[in-house]
Amino acid sequence: MAAKEGKCQICGEVRPLTREHLPQQALYPKSIRHLAGNLNTVAACAECNNSSNVVDELLKVCIGQIADAPWSKELRESVDSTLSKNQRLLRLVNENTRIENFIAANGNTVRAGVFKLPTELNESLMGAIERIVKALFYQHCGKVLIEHYEISVFHPDVIHPELSKKNV
Ligand SMILES: [Zn+2]
Repeated sequence: MAAKEGKCQICGEVRPLTREHLPQQALYPKSIRHLAGNLNTVAACAECNNSSNVVDELLKVCIGQIADAPWSKELRESVDSTLSKNQRLLRLVNENTRIENFIAANGNTVRAGVFKLPTELNESLMGAIERIVKALFYQHCGKVLIEHYEISVFHPDVIHPELSKKNV
C-alpha cells in the first residue's frame, strides 16, 4: 500500500507519511500502558521516522534512570529487564558509564554515574529526543515546531559550567 502524502508533523515537509508513536512506546512499560492513556501517534515522513530499536532502548535506559513519573518504578524494572536480556546494550551502557563526584548546589558531594555515548550514538539519541519534543509540541499546539529548522539539545555541561569545573 502506498503511503499517503501529507505534511510531516515533525519536519513540516509534504511527503509520504508513516505513523509513529512519540514518545516511543518503549517508554511506557506494558504493565502501566493502560495508565498512560492513548499514546500519542504522529504522522511523520520516513526520514523523521528513522529511529532504530537500539536508540529507542537506549532512550528508555537513559530516561528510566532519572524519570520522575508515577510509573518510574515500573520503568526502572523494565530497564533492568531490557538490560538483562540484551547483553550488547548492557555492555554499551557499562562501557560508557563512569562514576564521578559532583559538588551539588548545597555543597554536598554527590556520586553519580555519568553516561557518555560515542558521538554517533549520542547524535542519534539527541535526534530521538528532538523528535519527542517536536511531536509533543504538535500534539499540544497543532503546529510544526520551528518548521524547516532543527532544535538543539545542549549537554548539561553547557548549561552548568560551574558544575563541570568542579568535577573531581
Ligand atoms: Zn519529516
